[in-house]
Amino acid sequence: MSKVMIIGAGGVGGVVAHKCAQVPEVFSEIVLASRTLEKCQKIRAQLARPIETARVDADNTSELIDLIRNVQPRLIINVALPYQDLSIMDACLETAVDYLDTANYEPPDEARFCYKWQWDYQERFRQKGLMALLGCGFDPGVTNIFCAHALKHHFDEIHTIDIMDCNAGEHGHPFATNFNPEINIREVTARGRYYENGKWIETDPLAIHKSFDFPQIGPREMYLMYHEELESLVRNIPGIKRIRFWMTFSQEYLTHLRVLQNVGMTRIDPVHYKGCEIIPLQFLKALLPEPSSLGENYTGKTCIGCMITGVQDGRERKYYIYNICDHAAAYKEVKAQAIAYTTGVPAMIGAMLMLQRTWRGAGVFNVEEFDPAPFMEKLPQYGLPWTEKFLA
Ligand code: NDP
Repeated sequence: MSKVMIIGAGGVGGVVAHKCAQVPEVFSEIVLASRTLEKCQKIRAQLARPIETARVDADNTSELIDLIRNVQPRLIINVALPYQDLSIMDACLETAVDYLDTANYEPPDEARFCYKWQWDYQERFRQKGLMALLGCGFDPGVTNIFCAHALKHHFDEIHTIDIMDCNAGEHGHPFATNFNPEINIREVTARGRYYENGKWIETDPLAIHKSFDFPQIGPREMYLMYHEELESLVRNIPGIKRIRFWMTFSQEYLTHLRVLQNVGMTRIDPVHYKGCEIIPLQFLKALLPEPSSLGENYTGKTCIGCMITGVQDGRERKYYIYNICDHAAAYKEVKAQAIAYTTGVPAMIGAMLMLQRTWRGAGVFNVEEFDPAPFMEKLPQYGLPWTEKFLA
């Protein structure tokens, strides 16, 4: 029986609240806190059991500490934005509460995400006997756990990993992002990067692409990007020779993005306009549909998984493991589209394993550092079935 506090009442926060509410034997009390109280209340109204709500600015550590002292949760599930990761971790240290998130820290004024800032908290969490679990969404999150599962059961050595993320859904808007627009556009417009033979190789944004035939979806063009799980998997999968991340985009999305970039709307430096300072990307976010609003008319499926090669018992093997998630089915269950669903379900499962002390440690951890078995077992049970197969 445990009290949790979810921070962030967006698309993902809504799914985490729904999924935690479905498991009262683990999440006995739930508090949903976010910057805009009405969004918490809207989610609360969708749930079959009562939860508490609170307003908090998670950038303000002392405000957060006061709220945590008042609420006294055992665990904080951070599904606000990556900008808040460090202030929430600071508040957790101050109040002796465990921490979980789904996206690594990124400074607001610099589009550069990496784990260093959060890995630097290792000693402080360890000394206090607290646990921080980083990147427990789908990618990062389940994709890392898929790799740990492959290494545990099917490979003596993993040589290459290709993480492939396909969203073949239709939301009916000419241009919208499936998770927070600011974070999404910063990620997609960044230079590409992958790891090969001990070195990181940089590419122009979305410069490398190829087609892949996704199960239940068909061929889609996917683009090489840098993604945060590459950094931790290079550290945690011994002997890895190459790891890359690919994401599909429609031509419609890419054309809009190119125009927005060309006219300066994706800039993150301040622009002076009529006596105000405006950050163009933040203004663009205000114009675009909220990710949490996309679900109602979303159709189609997502397919996210890992193609892995390596050796077992001296034999070369090629292995593919993936999940398919249906937008309409996700909406029917928790009023959210599949991207929010595939992120929120793993966050709930990670929280459950921490609260049950199945996954336990003092310090800062990435999900692939734990035994994948209990997580893999719970994925289909809570809505994310997976399929694995060996390829010729
Ligand atoms: P949304 O923009 O829909 O939601 C973010 C929520 O956080 C909003 O409710 C927002 O409040 C709240 N928030 C922002 N700043 C603060 C603050 N200072 N204090 C308190 N609350 C704040 O984003 P998503 O739900 O789509 O994404 C949530 C997180 O999940 C992001 O970090 C994203 O990167 C991550 N993610 C991870 C994935 C994975 O697979 N690992 C995949 C998809 C997303 P307000 O409404 O007032 O702006």
